[in-house]
Amino acid sequence: MDLNITADYHSHTTYSHGKGSIADNALVASQKGLEILAITDHAVRHPFIGVSRKKYDAIRKDLQEVQSHYPDLTLLMGIEANILGMDGDIDVTDEDAKLLDIVIAGYHLTSFPYKFADYFNITWNALTKYTMKSTKGQIARNTAMYVNAIKKHKIDILTHPGFRLDIDYKEVGKVCADYGTYVELSSRHRTPNDSNIEGLLATDCQFVLDSDAHKSVDVGSVEFAKSLVEKHAIPKERIANIDGKRLVLRSKS
Ligand SMILES: [Zn+2]
Ligand SMILES: [Zn+2]
Repeated sequence: MDLNITADYHSHTTYSHGKGSIADNALVASQKGLEILAITDHAVRHPFIGVSRKKYDAIRKDLQEVQSHYPDLTLLMGIEANILGMDGDIDVTDEDAKLLDIVIAGYHLTSFPYKFADYFNITWNALTKYTMKSTKGQIARNTAMYVNAIKKHKIDILTHPGFRLDIDYKEVGKVCADYGTYVELSSRHRTPNDSNIEGLLATDCQFVLDSDAHKSVDVGSVEFAKSLVEKHAIPKERIANIDGKRLVLRSKS
């Protein structure tokens, strides 16, 4: 299957812990023939590196300057919010989102939950995932976190679902389909994998293939995501960032 990726909606820069600048990422995107590139640095509750709202102005200015050099590439200013606990809280408010072009969100082990109980409800599950089989209760709590976040917040793309946490993919895929949140096939974290993608495929959710580049050279590189598409014969109609298609962004509706 020939997959013509025309947008990458997930890339990091030195504003969080990426290695390149917005200009560096844009150059690679342009060289690879992308039409859209989103700059999506980590949000504020990612320790030490998270971007607070106070920095939005500087990022926007930087982005606009770079944009002026690339008439054929649209740069989007986004943030990768942290999903923080069972209530589905994220660290990008509705007010913050108004200042952004796109809001993507995922779970990161190191982010600080708002509620102490979430260290037991969620963080513990992430810490033990690779040494103990997740219990039904853990999977239910992890799944509830994702489901509540998608219902509560206008998240455009759910990033690397299942990275660090075992979840019920079918339930998460269903709520993404119902609420218009795209599901990321993550080339960086190689999630979902061959077995758990089945749950997503059993729903009507739409996918995006992202690089989650932390180095500029990786912008637009989605080899793992492409391999999933080929292996599981995911129809092109379910992939939202190929052939010049445009996402319908919940956060802007
Ligand atoms: Zn992430
Ligand atoms: Zn990321």
